[in-house]
Amino acid sequence: MGLASLLLESGDMVKQRLDGKKDGKKAVARAPFELGGVEVQPGERRRVDIPTPSSFGQAESSISVIVHHAKAPGPCLFVSAAIHGDEINGVEIIRRVLAMRALRQLRGTLLAVPVVNMYGFVAQSRYLPDRRDLNRAFPGSQKGSIASRLANIFMTEIVAKCTHGIDLHTGAIHRSNLPQLRACLDHGQTAELADAFGVPVVLHANVRDGSLRQAVVERDAPMLLYEAGEALRFDEVCIRAGVQGVINVMRHIGMLPQKKARQPAKPVVCTKSKWERAPAGGILRPQVALGDRVHVDQTLAMLADAAGENELTVTASVEGIVIGRTNLPLVNEGDAIFHLAVVEESQNVADNVAAFHADLDPDNPSISNEPAITS
Ligand SMILES: [Zn+2]
Repeated sequence: MGLASLLLESGDMVKQRLDGKKDGKKAVARAPFELGGVEVQPGERRRVDIPTPSSFGQAESSISVIVHHAKAPGPCLFVSAAIHGDEINGVEIIRRVLAMRALRQLRGTLLAVPVVNMYGFVAQSRYLPDRRDLNRAFPGSQKGSIASRLANIFMTEIVAKCTHGIDLHTGAIHRSNLPQLRACLDHGQTAELADAFGVPVVLHANVRDGSLRQAVVERDAPMLLYEAGEALRFDEVCIRAGVQGVINVMRHIGMLPQKKARQPAKPVVCTKSKWERAPAGGILRPQVALGDRVHVDQTLAMLADAAGENELTVTASVEGIVIGRTNLPLVNEGDAIFHLAVVEESQNVADNVAAFHADLDPDNPSISNEPAITS
């Protein structure tokens, strides 16, 4: 408001503004955030434990949600990890995000869920006690299996209250993923969020697989799934990329102030990917790394038996970028060994990946100012 218009205001109007009134109506303070029967006041951060179905090993179990309900209104974002109980990079990503001083300037509400599948987390397992995959049980139901009930609790208590979501995953045991996003880019704001997050590769998929991502998209909320690293391992670059990505998204949607930092390079969007499988059992000697650009017929690995005989060359069957690979050299015939995102022959993704890794070098300070985890 300019000085001239201020001078034109009547004394009454100024008084109303100072009283927090506008247009004769009282300015309403932001309502508390209600979760699991607990009220979190504006300006408060609080942990809320939501009871989950009991298992034979744990009479009582819960999902812990850290609710940071800012005084200023804004979007409501959930950030979740360990839906697959052994995928722990996301647990550390959430710890670092919650420790950041930047959250003092938060607008809106952040719901951080470091461990969704506590049963699997305790057992160091991807699955639930009934061997089901929680990420195939969404949206779930009140009266279904333990997986279905847990999915239903997550949907009704958390997703239903949020405007945006980020779910954090890793590769499976003995398999690493290049930091990447999986997202349904046809859906409204999702493509924008994927650009803002800032990883080199986005796999676009419109899936119907009972995943959290499908259930959230069907509620018409944008959601990203971040995949990076290996199960049961911490990976500093993957963790840093995740922290940076979550903060970038929060800045993009107005939960944190925009920074005039360099915009991340546009990710390469892939709609198809292919797992290259071992043509025979044997001992694998990979010749390509995560993030490498590979061409059709390029050697990916050598494969031989324990005596070094019966050697085979494993080659790429598509033009692609290596977004996942096995870390275990011992392979059976048919094992998935390299995951290639299919790209056009002309696309140069390698520079993108190299710049991305240089930015996240563990020897440099990170945005969260956390000491690097040495591995
Ligand atoms: Zn996962």
